[in-house]
Amino acid sequence: MIIAIDGPSGAGKSTVAKAVARKLGFSCLDTGAMYRAVAWQAVQNGVSLDDDAALGEVARSYDIEFVHQPGEPTPSGVLIGGTDVTAAIRTAEIDRAVSPVSAAPSVREALVDQQRRIGNAGDYVVEGRDIGTTVFPQAEVKVFLTASDEERAHRRVRQNVDRGIGSIDYEEVLVDLRRRDKVDSSRATSPLRPADDAVMLDSTNHFIEEVIDIICGMADEARAR
Ligand code: C5P
Repeated sequence: MIIAIDGPSGAGKSTVAKAVARKLGFSCLDTGAMYRAVAWQAVQNGVSLDDDAALGEVARSYDIEFVHQPGEPTPSGVLIGGTDVTAAIRTAEIDRAVSPVSAAPSVREALVDQQRRIGNAGDYVVEGRDIGTTVFPQAEVKVFLTASDEERAHRRVRQNVDRGIGSIDYEEVLVDLRRRDKVDSSRATSPLRPADDAVMLDSTNHFIEEVIDIICGMADEARAR
């Protein structure tokens, strides 16, 4: 079964996806980490961020691997071309580079292929921007998770404080988050938008635990169908 969780930055997708995966015994796929890893590699290689062909070449030639601790459904790290980039992909530099990289059609083509291969191998909670619309349009459960801009910026700051990486300046985080939403929503290939059959959930007015329970309930219903 595929549970697709899409939505803008900081809506709580990762927290929700991990908790749902743990409760249901599913694996978890963070597609944003894949776009971030390609962005990191492109920056390392000095590739111009508007060169679609060169970015596509990076996405096709470097293997992305997720590191799993035994018994944990959610990966603890991510590698590209054998380099551990778990922390390096969360910096403000990569926050900026990932929007143009993920808008490149050849990058999307390469990563969507890999995402389908991974997801089709088992029961997965897949989080991203285009999972319900493009990657797994046949997903049994589709959720579009949102929250107010201000709430999302507060959460991202708290997350960056906890991780010890990324900006902890609220205004800077808010501006970057709105900028990324705008680029993600207006790009030509797979823009951020809810699938027609997605259930809209707003985590501003729900406790995260409620959102998790709602999604687990949807998965139970889908299983019973
Ligand atoms: O989820 P996260 O904020 O880590 O994603 C980083 C960026 O990767 C997003 O801002 C978006 O540009 C891109 N992305 C995407 N499609 C996905 C997942 C992420 O374009 N399925």
